[in-house]
Amino acid sequence: MQVVYDPRHVLHDPVTEVQYGVPMPMYEVPARAESIRAALLADDSFSFADPVGHGLGPVTAVHHEGLVRFLGEAWGLWRARGGGGSMPPQFMPDTVLHPAMREGMGEAPEPSAAVGRIGYWCWETMTPLVAGSYQAARAAVDVALTAADLLLAGDAAVYGLARPPGHHCPRSAFGGYGLFNYSAAASAYLADRVGRVAVLDVDYHHGNGTQQIFYHRADVLYVSLHGDPDRAFPYFIGWAGERGAGPGEGFTLNLPLPAGCTNDRYLAALDTALERVAEHSAAALVVSLGLDTYGQDPIADFALSTDVYHEVGRRVAGLGLPTLVLQEGGYFVPKLGENARTWLRGLLGRPLDLRPTPG
Ligand SMILES: [Zn+2]
Repeated sequence: MQVVYDPRHVLHDPVTEVQYGVPMPMYEVPARAESIRAALLADDSFSFADPVGHGLGPVTAVHHEGLVRFLGEAWGLWRARGGGGSMPPQFMPDTVLHPAMREGMGEAPEPSAAVGRIGYWCWETMTPLVAGSYQAARAAVDVALTAADLLLAGDAAVYGLARPPGHHCPRSAFGGYGLFNYSAAASAYLADRVGRVAVLDVDYHHGNGTQQIFYHRADVLYVSLHGDPDRAFPYFIGWAGERGAGPGEGFTLNLPLPAGCTNDRYLAALDTALERVAEHSAAALVVSLGLDTYGQDPIADFALSTDVYHEVGRRVAGLGLPTLVLQEGGYFVPKLGENARTWLRGLLGRPLDLRPTPG
């Protein structure tokens, strides 16, 4: 299996996120991708390829031009205010545009001040920008699109090893650790070229950004298994009753799952998801591969074990669709590489081959 990877992901390396008002070390760190890279390099089932630049077109195909413009200039604007000098070397909002602020008064204009603009375009407090964030995010999109090109050229399955994850980014905002929704960009890119596409999002967290981007479309099906938003981030989206709207009615399927979700419970929900994907008659499948469903993940509450990832990959392969796998979450770094390798080996039809955790 070809693996597309770009070392520029390390340019996005903020140190502090804020959860429920508490500053804490980032969970979404460069070591995540490097642990996966190391595990795949040690397995001759995988070979590495470099990404090719695809320009901004596929980014603005799924994101508001104003968001893309802001992210392109955000760090320069912050530096001009003194940020990164005597101020902390990262930039995040203190004020976010809550819909209730302007209820009944129409949309807010985008302010001109950088600190106002970041609250206009960002929706939470866990995605600080640093000097290299935009470059890393653009590289991640190119990883996804290059992997899509390899799929279009005839590969049965391709893996894009990218970060920061993008599935929490809707059309007109960034957040949820990510800047650009590369799974959505690749899905739209594939849909333009092959017609119907299915997105299977197996990250622990609901991919609110991907759902929003395709909510009104019938050609791109979005199916997600995730922690119930009643208790799990991103809280306000991912409910079972959300099924798409307009022409997209019936083309979103959410399968919220309980805390402590076991391997068996998960596989039963996966079968429901795969049935819906099979009905879609897609020409290609995009998997948003989050491995924060793992039992030891520090920011999630499922109870999956490494061996079940092999079975999940095997069942996804049973669809018989050209499959683009794009890395999203997964925060227990000591097992992340092995979990990804096991999932991908299942997809490839290679035998389960559990290896001890390095170190
Ligand atoms: Zn996640």
